[in-house]
Amino acid sequence: MTAYLASPLARRASVAVDVGGVKVGGDAPVVVQSMTNTDTADVDSTVAQVAALHRAGSELVRITVDRPESAAAVPRIRDRLVRLGVDVPLIGDFHYIGHKLLADYPACAEALAKYRINPGNVGFREKRDRQFGAIVETAIRHEKPVRIGVNWGSLDQELLTRLMDENQKKGSPLTAQEVTREAIVQSALLSAELAEEIGLGRDRIILSAKVSQVQDLIAVYAELAKRSDHALHLGLTEAGMGSKGIVASSAALAILLQQGIGDTIRISLTPEPGGDRTREVQVAQELLQTMGFRQFVPVVAACPGCGRTTSTVFQELAKKIEDDLRVNMPLWRERYPGVEELKVAVMGCIVNGPGESKHADIGISLPGTGETPSAPVFIDGRKAATLRGPGIAEEFQKMVADYVEQRFGHGRTEAAE
Ligand code: SF4
Repeated sequence: MTAYLASPLARRASVAVDVGGVKVGGDAPVVVQSMTNTDTADVDSTVAQVAALHRAGSELVRITVDRPESAAAVPRIRDRLVRLGVDVPLIGDFHYIGHKLLADYPACAEALAKYRINPGNVGFREKRDRQFGAIVETAIRHEKPVRIGVNWGSLDQELLTRLMDENQKKGSPLTAQEVTREAIVQSALLSAELAEEIGLGRDRIILSAKVSQVQDLIAVYAELAKRSDHALHLGLTEAGMGSKGIVASSAALAILLQQGIGDTIRISLTPEPGGDRTREVQVAQELLQTMGFRQFVPVVAACPGCGRTTSTVFQELAKKIEDDLRVNMPLWRERYPGVEELKVAVMGCIVNGPGESKHADIGISLPGTGETPSAPVFIDGRKAATLRGPGIAEEFQKMVADYVEQRFGHGRTEAAE
């Protein structure tokens, strides 16, 4: 199987890193990851959220390890997940006292599949190198990879000040924004260099350099990609809520991914109060799938609707089918290999309905305003049934489930193949 379904312009060569059995970089497909927002010391909530994120498709899950109680909880979280059959590598997110937590809680260091450290948050001056070195040495001892994750909001101020001073002395100085971008890139590269000097292999290092503005992110990662072959974690930090966060992340990441830059992605969405954390996984998958790089869930083609369909029947059906497919996918993925390639169409009227439905594996063309109240269903390009009455949605959902069983199940028919 090829790693990519579609090809980016040219895949950047990167050194592959094994993160708890998940390959990141090299020729591996771009990996989807996410992060919990529970208190890690609360084992029940964290286990539940990690399991939900993994069920939604997150291939790596990061958890905050911010204090002794969280570090102590990590091995218990790992054990509970194993007992639940949730086999997802956990990444520990460390700031300020990571060196101490990893030293004091060796079971935590062992239970994690990767450590994320922020070189801007590991201490100051001589302490910084010593504490950074201590984390790297722990990673070497436990044979774990490390993500060196620079962040615009916690950039190494000494480095930034030095670059700003040097810049002032130039005949034609760069702008402050350009110098800051350079400081971000240098912070990641110099930290990686230091980690390698201490003895951490390049195949154990992933770099990220997160900023909150799309153009900055593209510029910073383009530079990182040019100047190193480390595996890269992409993400727009503080992307924001709802459509703003989704659009900003997608715009930035799509441009980089199309240039072959990026080995793993996270979409940092601010959840609505009480919102579903798995949304960030769904968006990451949809981004990769929309671009043709990976296939995670069946595609539902639905028309946008217009004045020819004034009822909400077809919107409701399209939503029901999408939700149904997503809910069923964890089970279907195991039971029906290849089901993620399924194409379903839900169309609003006769104008494009039958045509689009015929192009799908299974499609329904609902009646538009003033049309005969019947909905032809097409399977593999041929009209298979006409549905009528109030139970159209349920009948079509059943037809989709039957089609999946017939085509991807053990009892698949010759015709369906
Ligand atoms: S298929 Fe019909 S309802 Fe849907 S957008 Fe086209 S014309 Fe409008």
